[in-house]
Amino acid sequence: MDDLDTRRRRAALNQTLFREVNERIAALSDRYADELRPNSYICECLSPDCAAMLELSHDEYERFREQGARFFVLPGHEDPAVEDVVETTEQYVVVEKIGVASAIAESTNPRRNGSTP
Ligand SMILES: [Zn+2]
Repeated sequence: MDDLDTRRRRAALNQTLFREVNERIAALSDRYADELRPNSYICECLSPDCAAMLELSHDEYERFREQGARFFVLPGHEDPAVEDVVETTEQYVVVEKIGVASAIAESTNPRRNGSTP
């Protein structure tokens, strides 16, 4: 395995952990908050030390979370070596994993549950 693959694999595993936390936040906001007010989610970037928060509405979160290979990061926290930028806003950037990281992200998608065709 080359260095880039190692980097992608490690990055994907870090990011899936952050995603798990954000799924909990989303589940809570589903129950207690109103749809339009933004919630604070954890930045899902490659750095295991990053504890930055980003704001997005429940609807925005749901819209991108459907795709197992997509993650939310703060602007500037994306890494073109391991991910493609899907959408950029002032609050957050949506990235899509590429290569081996994409497969890891998909296979660990908490929403998979056999619902994918
Ligand atoms: Zn970050």
